[in-house]
Amino acid sequence: MDASYQCRWGAGARPLNPVWPMVPALLQDEVISSWLMRCALAQGCDATTLTGEVWPRLRYWCNDPDRELSIEQSQHLTRLSGIPTAALQAATLQPLYQLMTGAAEFPRGIAPWFLCLGCRNRRRSGGLQYCPKCFKERLPHYLIQDRLAWHSACPLHQVILLDRCECCHAPLCPHLLAPPEQTLGRCHRCGYELGFASTDRAPIKALSFQLAADELFSKPTLRYGENHLLLTEWFALSRWMIGILRTAARAPSPCTEMFFRELGVNLAELRPPPTGLPFEYLSPVDRAGLLAHVWSMLEVGPERLMAVAERERVRPSLLLPRSGELPASLARLGAVLKSSRRRNYNLAPVRTPRSVKSVLMRWQRLLRKFQR
Ligand SMILES: [Zn+2]
Ligand SMILES: [Zn+2]
Repeated sequence: MDASYQCRWGAGARPLNPVWPMVPALLQDEVISSWLMRCALAQGCDATTLTGEVWPRLRYWCNDPDRELSIEQSQHLTRLSGIPTAALQAATLQPLYQLMTGAAEFPRGIAPWFLCLGCRNRRRSGGLQYCPKCFKERLPHYLIQDRLAWHSACPLHQVILLDRCECCHAPLCPHLLAPPEQTLGRCHRCGYELGFASTDRAPIKALSFQLAADELFSKPTLRYGENHLLLTEWFALSRWMIGILRTAARAPSPCTEMFFRELGVNLAELRPPPTGLPFEYLSPVDRAGLLAHVWSMLEVGPERLMAVAERERVRPSLLLPRSGELPASLARLGAVLKSSRRRNYNLAPVRTPRSVKSVLMRWQRLLRKFQR
């Protein structure tokens, strides 16, 4: 993968006859909140003061600021900043969400494949990520893809992204930066220069997954075995794979270990995320690990997956979703498992005390809340 690979989500724009004295250009692929924060620092105020001026009745930073902007809100911002309304709207996550779901508006709570900020007032617990090397080499700013859950690595530097300050471990909250800061380059809490953070090499398969998913926004279908999957089908299949990987890693058994080994996944290497939270809340390193395994499974194709599931007599509760349906390309898996289930007698579950793993998982969630 070379430096020429970069997905273009938003073209960016220059200000035209702005009311505000100092308006930075909206950079290519820059996400709306990043530009607003840079805009605030350029005027010599903090982000809350700036948005309070634009939308006095909106508590803009207490919710996810990147999800959507109404036409009316955008037009008001255009009048003050000179950035065209279309460019402002293209810098939100809404066009991507519409392509992925067909729905115009985000739901309350989790939207699959979009990172969750975990907002409590203006505090956050994660959901924004960056590449330290990119921050060092160019003007620090955040990209649209820094909010996408399938992005866990920088394609230019091939390193895993970070979602918190390496020095004080605070989640990134650039909207809390205030003058005399002039750029988004430092941690809001301890002032650490974020570009100096150390980096780890990204798993090549996580990058392959990321590239393939990005391509689906400009290409009609992707191959999975003999199937040609549309964007929505491909994401549904990948999500199902993430689900079974996480379930199997929590409670491995010899038959699931064998099943996954045949699909190119070593379950022993898969560290279950310490918090056990939904995928959209996980750190870049946890998501990179999962997505690299999903890529291995995708490479194997549906026929082999179904054949191995039948041969290893994998328990249906692992592979069949409790709610919703199987991905279309694996629709036959239900029938395959039913036939092997008759031969596979399971003992009734025995009530046991909560496992150490599950207690630790709850403890990690509690710590995460305190770190806001
Ligand atoms: Zn980078
Ligand atoms: Zn810090």
